[in-house]
Amino acid sequence: MESTPESGVDLGRPARLDWLERLPKVELHLHLEGAIPHAALWELICKYGGDPAVPDAAALPGRFAYRDFPDFIDRWIWKQGFLREAADYELIGVAVASELARQRIVYAEAFYSPVDVGQGGPSVQEESLALRRGLSSVAGTEVALIADVVRDQGPEGAMTTLEAVAEVATEAGVIGLGIGGSEQRFPPEPFACVYERARALGLRTTAHAGEVAGPSSVWGAIRALGVERIDHGLRAVEDPDLVAYLVERRLPVTSCPGSNVATGAVASRAGHPIRRLFDAGVLISVATDDPAMFGLSMAGELAALQLTLDFTDDEIRQLLLNAVESCWLPAGRRAALRVAFLTDPAWVG
Ligand SMILES: [Zn+2]
Repeated sequence: MESTPESGVDLGRPARLDWLERLPKVELHLHLEGAIPHAALWELICKYGGDPAVPDAAALPGRFAYRDFPDFIDRWIWKQGFLREAADYELIGVAVASELARQRIVYAEAFYSPVDVGQGGPSVQEESLALRRGLSSVAGTEVALIADVVRDQGPEGAMTTLEAVAEVATEAGVIGLGIGGSEQRFPPEPFACVYERARALGLRTTAHAGEVAGPSSVWGAIRALGVERIDHGLRAVEDPDLVAYLVERRLPVTSCPGSNVATGAVASRAGHPIRRLFDAGVLISVATDDPAMFGLSMAGELAALQLTLDFTDDEIRQLLLNAVESCWLPAGRRAALRVAFLTDPAWVG
């Protein structure tokens, strides 16, 4: 038996969890820096002389217990302080890809947050290429990258980051642009020029929206940024016209229930809008967002949906196929992946 500390949901029924672990999966909303396995992060902490807040590796889960969203951001920044050299990015690339392969996540489109470390640290280009080296060295999974810019840095800063990424996008396997950060203080509209530039560079587009801000944030991402996918989007449920639009256009939504409970965006798993959005016909898939910081796994997320929102086995399969349909692989590869899922020995359960 195991439980998720953030929700108190008992993820018992080990046989079911075993099936969910064996199922092939695609994950489309995963931040590489929030997915660093604790062993790898501990290695980096030791490399840089330790940290008084974390006496040993066993203390890391406690270090990632949050009071609220600002507290989560503080701890995110603390962790980023241990990524100082290109080799560190390669190390986390290897560690995260190994974890994805272990979970049978055969394909992922993962965010990374390019930052100009400065002061002799790696450039955005060096970070991107180092991550790629790490990710591509692991068998059993394939990871495409989405550069995630931060709303808080404003459109000018975002544009600078985008141009730096663009220099190595092909070599580093960066296929898209996303935006995160303080959704309530920084609405999407001023970033329209950044998204236009991304499209001109041949990148796909998505945006975090409707996580803590309301439906207008999702409408802004659609109308001003022209996104092809919405990350979180849970508050879309408050606007029937928006839900109808998402359904009609088959605009994909990546949903992260465990993360939303952990950050306080929703009060409980049982009240998460994923059930209502799924039932309405939205092309919605499930992901873990920052699994190593929230103590989550893909199988655990799927199990929690079964236990708290009564998702049937067939509905779980549909969520996984939705992820295949929502991903940015070429149409032929998406079709092949769908066939591979449907014919996988684990698919029948
Ligand atoms: Zn996210």
